[in-house]
Amino acid sequence: MTDAQDPSAAARRSRLVVLAGPTAVGKGTVAAEVRATHPEVWISVSATTRQPRPGEENGVHYWFVSDDEFDRMVADGDLLEWAVVHKAARYGTPRQPVDLALASGRPAMLEIDLQGARQVRRTMPDALFVFLKPPSWEELVRRLVGRGTESAEERTRRLETAREELAAETEFDVTIVNHEIHAAAEELVALMKPSPTDL
Ligand code: 5GP
Repeated sequence: MTDAQDPSAAARRSRLVVLAGPTAVGKGTVAAEVRATHPEVWISVSATTRQPRPGEENGVHYWFVSDDEFDRMVADGDLLEWAVVHKAARYGTPRQPVDLALASGRPAMLEIDLQGARQVRRTMPDALFVFLKPPSWEELVRRLVGRGTESAEERTRRLETAREELAAETEFDVTIVNHEIHAAAEELVALMKPSPTDL
């Protein structure tokens, strides 16, 4: 049965929130804060072809897959969106878990890059697109260098990407400035609560 035939299913369905923003703005950290403080929010686990960093767990932070496995997911239409990020590895959002979360009425969010957000905008225009912005360019550079997990070459590549990505703010429905992680996470979760007109 489709939602049109079953109005109660349509009413129950939640609205997807897509969080994007420049590299190193803290999207992953804000998403982790939401995960820790708001277990009612469902957060998509992406598939990626990059290697796990120390402490990252398969199925928790990402699904770490081979190039062949990623090819298969793309060919089978298993991904809602996917992109090559920082010209380095492929990342994609498994489609079915998103559908299930939305159908259950749970607040649901994706934390993805700008290219991915643009794809979701085309296929799911009703989603809410949230841009996470650094307090300043200097702060973004400081955070990127401070993370210390990338080589100098990788950092330069990510900064180039970040400069382009900052210009995309106008494509988004809402901007959150990431002054402080907890406050940014709370602002994000507040956007997921149904507005009085939806009730
Ligand atoms: P990292 O390698 O630092 O975990 O993530 C690198 C970038 O990949 C981040 O900007 C993150 O938002 C993006 N990313 C993570 N998962 C996905 C995904 O499923 N799709 C897309 N398009 N980007 C993703």
